[in-house]
Amino acid sequence: MVDNCPFCAASLDGIAFFEAYGCLAIVNLAPIVLGHSLVVPKRHVSRLADLSEGECRDLFAATQRTALLLMTIYKADGIDISLQDGASAGQTVGHLHVHAIPRRPRDLERPGAWYDRLIDSHRQRRRTGAEMLAEAAMLRARRTELGL
Ligand SMILES: [Zn+2]
Repeated sequence: MVDNCPFCAASLDGIAFFEAYGCLAIVNLAPIVLGHSLVVPKRHVSRLADLSEGECRDLFAATQRTALLLMTIYKADGIDISLQDGASAGQTVGHLHVHAIPRRPRDLERPGAWYDRLIDSHRQRRRTGAEMLAEAAMLRARRTELGL
């Protein structure tokens, strides 16, 4: 728990749709495509190297489950997974997180265009709290329905 950390300071319960392996999957404030979500370790760590080997496995296991969930619900046939470790790599929030970006054919101008959008995500529209709560509620309901 760290003050001024957006993933520690506020309760993420409303925007979370999956919890396992000491991690939460949450909807994103500024998604670059439909369903773009984040997987966040519940313990505040800044860098990948701050995770124990077990926590590292847990983060990837949580990411795998989140990926399956998002691809099923959003009918995606691929997913981009990105972890920006350090400012030089584009990390802007000091709490380690993994981007899970479900992809559909021709959703962007080219398959690799997600990366530029992720780096420029400050240009994406910020969603309202109500929009984020609604998406998370839908994902929780669908996850239960599908048994995922
Ligand atoms: Zn934090």
